[in-house]
Amino acid sequence: MTTLLKNGKWHNSKGELEKVDLLIQNGKIASISSNIEENGSEQVIELDGNLISAGFIDVHVHLREPGGEKKETIETGTKSAAKGGFTTICAMPNTRPTPDTKEQLEWLNKRIAETASVRVLPYACITTRQLGEEITDFTALKEAGAFAFTDDGVGVQDASKMLAAMKKAAAVNMAIVAHCEENTLINKGAVHEGKFSEKYGLNGIPSVCESVHIARDILLAEAAGCHYHVCHISTKESVRVVRDAKKAGIKVTAEVSPHHLLLSEEDIPGLDSNFKMNPPLRGKQDQEALIEGLLDGTIDFIATDHAPHTAEEKAEGMEKAPFGIVGLETAFPLLFTNFVETGKCTLKQLLEWLTIKPAEVFNLPFGRLEEGAPADLTIIDLQSKSAIDPGDFLSKGINTPFTGWECKGWPVQTIVDGKLVWQKGSVQV
Ligand SMILES: [Zn+2]
Repeated sequence: MTTLLKNGKWHNSKGELEKVDLLIQNGKIASISSNIEENGSEQVIELDGNLISAGFIDVHVHLREPGGEKKETIETGTKSAAKGGFTTICAMPNTRPTPDTKEQLEWLNKRIAETASVRVLPYACITTRQLGEEITDFTALKEAGAFAFTDDGVGVQDASKMLAAMKKAAAVNMAIVAHCEENTLINKGAVHEGKFSEKYGLNGIPSVCESVHIARDILLAEAAGCHYHVCHISTKESVRVVRDAKKAGIKVTAEVSPHHLLLSEEDIPGLDSNFKMNPPLRGKQDQEALIEGLLDGTIDFIATDHAPHTAEEKAEGMEKAPFGIVGLETAFPLLFTNFVETGKCTLKQLLEWLTIKPAEVFNLPFGRLEEGAPADLTIIDLQSKSAIDPGDFLSKGINTPFTGWECKGWPVQTIVDGKLVWQKGSVQV
């Protein structure tokens, strides 16, 4: 099967946008050139000057299946990913049951093969049922296809357990990916401990709840010699600790979510649970430190923490509603409009944070626009403008704080392994 993409644009080696054609053969990028003739191509797609990017990678997605199918399924979550331009996503293990045994992970991979429309790499748990007690069989889980190990949703509380897990991870050359929360400092908070919590008389989660866990884990990772990756970093102290650790040569990497880059507690309009997520929206200085950390390389890349919930659950109010917002379908347009168009970063940087950077951190063979690479591609219309409307989402979740935001930079076609898996105007190809 050959597919020819005609009249796209891409970043050349000098970082300039230039006209390009791209030929796909047997699921791989066969050629990239300023002009490729149509001879013999079975499928020709006219791009009308739209941007060709390597397909986006999101290492932090909650697909909710098994156990949470009312919120999302592998099928709906991966359609949502495809619409957002993501061709590879990593599924978090806080499902019921959890992927903590070889059998459970094999079941999950079978389910992914049957129902996913983009590539899904599942995480396995660090501890059985994410209870923080018994460490899972890393060797067996690696063999069964685990992407990395995490107990995302909760922090591993016991330092001796975390150290043992890190040593095991180092032995099998896999990463420990950590949701960082010290349980004794959560304070039953629903939002950040700061201006907003004070104004509304709510319990707040202090910044140290996160940063103290990251500081602990970094020292444990140094002792264990393992690759330690920080999920959804959210405070200025966390950024400083990661920056210092990198300077010291410790193998630590970090991701930041679009909402923490775009919003602070000062943007929460009132008791609206669409602004409730974990970690919470922090202070303005934290938001600024995250942007600075991303720009100077302290933070390696962007991940959405796509966390769908039902409308009924989110209607329970700021204190009772579950934490989390959806993110796959809005990440690129939001960041393109609010970061690239405003000059905070370049288009090239934004694309790298969504493609090659996560690929490099986790040694994935994706995220590269080059001959011979898998044909995972995202085609983006950088010109047309429209407002975010949760009614358009393919995710079951409509829990977003960005309703009504006017954005440019909408993905229009998504290709995985050379196959068109989504295009604008159709629910499914
Ligand atoms: Zn988390």
